Amino acid sequence: MTALTLYNSLTRSAEPFRPIDPANVRIYSCGPTVYNYAHVGNLRAYVFTDTLARVLRWKGHPLTHIINITDVGHLTSDADAGDDKMEAAAKRSGQDIWAIAAHYTAAFKQNLKDLHIADPTAFPLATDHIAEMIAFGETIADRHCYRLPDGLYFDTTSVPDYGRLARTGGDEVEGRIDPVAGKRHPQDFAIWRTSAPGENRQMEWDSPWGRGAPGWHLECSVMSRKYLGAAFDIHTGGIDHREIHHPNEIAQNQAYCGCADTGATIWMHNNFLVERAGKMSKSSNEFLTLQALVDRGFHPLAYRLMCLQAHYRSELEFSWDNLAAASTRLKRLVQAVTALRHRADAPTGTAADTYRTQLDEAVSEDLNTAKALPVLDSLIADKRLAPADRLATLADFDAVLGLDLLMLHREDLRVRPASSEIDAGEIEGRLAARRDARAAKDFARSDAIRDELAGLGVEVMDGDPLGWDWRIGA
Ligand code: AMP
Ligand code: ZN
Repeated sequence: MTALTLYNSLTRSAEPFRPIDPANVRIYSCGPTVYNYAHVGNLRAYVFTDTLARVLRWKGHPLTHIINITDVGHLTSDADAGDDKMEAAAKRSGQDIWAIAAHYTAAFKQNLKDLHIADPTAFPLATDHIAEMIAFGETIADRHCYRLPDGLYFDTTSVPDYGRLARTGGDEVEGRIDPVAGKRHPQDFAIWRTSAPGENRQMEWDSPWGRGAPGWHLECSVMSRKYLGAAFDIHTGGIDHREIHHPNEIAQNQAYCGCADTGATIWMHNNFLVERAGKMSKSSNEFLTLQALVDRGFHPLAYRLMCLQAHYRSELEFSWDNLAAASTRLKRLVQAVTALRHRADAPTGTAADTYRTQLDEAVSEDLNTAKALPVLDSLIADKRLAPADRLATLADFDAVLGLDLLMLHREDLRVRPASSEIDAGEIEGRLAARRDARAAKDFARSDAIRDELAGLGVEVMDGDPLGWDWRIGA
């Protein structure tokens, strides 16, 4: 197989991947803050980590993959200002904070399933690790932290080379960090946040620094170390984490070991999914969930394919047109694979190795799925290869890209928009009546049925090149 190179944000270069232990590659992915549904931008981050995990597994590496669940501690600003996102959501809705966390955690896991994102080894919760976070804080407090009335703060000048990972220089970062009174340096951050008198938090714990809650960055240092060890292979997250969250994790790791080790060897960041209107944000009330896409009649895998069409380090623009184009591409792929399945005899064993090699070359180049997709098209269309041989090689593409083309049926992709009230049985019934009318050359009746269906939001598709009889909506 081709040697894998991955872009390391820490060294700002593509590097050959050399696992610490090839028999157990260890990956940590920053998980969601569960105060609301994930938006499709968040989900791009997990399509990316899933691609990474799939490529590694396909190349023969067993994995330990952790995705944490942030159910406490993340403030509305990444840099210790604003409200606690979880507490704020609980206040807004008047609900129990634990119930909110459980609800959105379950919704997140369902999103991953719908996108064919393989389950990680574990989804540890921040709130299950409070004692370990306090112990971590106690270990680093004397040499690296200082007290303020509202908590224990990390002195970022106490570790070598703070912020090496971040792209922006000191001044720019300072401009984006909200001041907390008394902090010694703008980049210093909370290890523990002591509740203010009368703050009335639903989630708080006793600590040597008073009753309160952990700072957000702490959980990832604690859980990555616990589940993956002090030195592990890859840490992933969205590109926003490159500037504050991950530099702070690295600083904590260095403080804890009393050395310059960063924890993970490779730090990888996916770029954003953006909308014309700007960055997608979960804290604004209007944002796109996976369910919103399904409600408009799109299969979740159309969104997965849309993500795969771009390199994970490129910004990707979300638009309904882009999604519709990906959806059409997915339907064509499924149609073509279905046709192959109908024609497949026993495999001849004629190797479709060139396609496997090209797939390997594409994804070995820093997970270039955009380059792997045309290889998939060529494989499916290669008439020199017996259908069964093409299908056998397709299994490799399914393993890496997660589109499950060998399992999908055309009908699976027919997602009914939420706004539509007519069901598939009724549509089929009316189409049968229309076929009868046409057979009897009663074209007025046939046209009338088509118009009735159009009135119900169903477009009749005579002579559709993909062989669809009808579709709902746009
Ligand atoms: P959060 O729930 O806000 O902690 O975010 C979960 C993951 O989504 C993190 O890895 C973020 O960096 C990532 N993320 C947030 N917004 C976007 C976006 N618009 N596009 C891609 N990734 C994002
Ligand atoms: Zn994290």
